[in-house]
Amino acid sequence: MNRLEQGSFALFFAGKRLEPASLDKNMVGFCSKCDGELESIAYHKTGDEWLVCAKCPNQHLVLTQYDGYWNWKGDAQLEIVPEFKSISTLPKEQLEAVFTAAEIRTMEACERGLPYTRQNLYRARAKYEKFEKLFGVKIRL
Ligand SMILES: [Zn+2]
Repeated sequence: MNRLEQGSFALFFAGKRLEPASLDKNMVGFCSKCDGELESIAYHKTGDEWLVCAKCPNQHLVLTQYDGYWNWKGDAQLEIVPEFKSISTLPKEQLEAVFTAAEIRTMEACERGLPYTRQNLYRARAKYEKFEKLFGVKIRL
């Protein structure tokens, strides 16, 4: 499932995080589920392709793919997910209350796309729920 992040409007598509190219609101077609008008939420570009996230008045979501010349390529499913906090923006004291120094280093490295110790990430992941319970912040890595 393709995911559009609330707040940032970043799109998680084919394993990549894409920042929005535009947040223009346009009528972009009709909903295949209810025939309602689809209004764009965000536009993203990947390679030569355009990806348009849109929703109808009944909150049906769709991700439409176009080539570089705006020829329709296909529709895909889309869901909206809450914004996740980046590790580097979280207070150190909160992180240290749950994770070891090695786990924190690993999460930061993973987030920045640097090499990291897989084992540490597995250990950290096992504690995400505890962290969320304590501080109300979801971590996703
Ligand atoms: Zn609809």
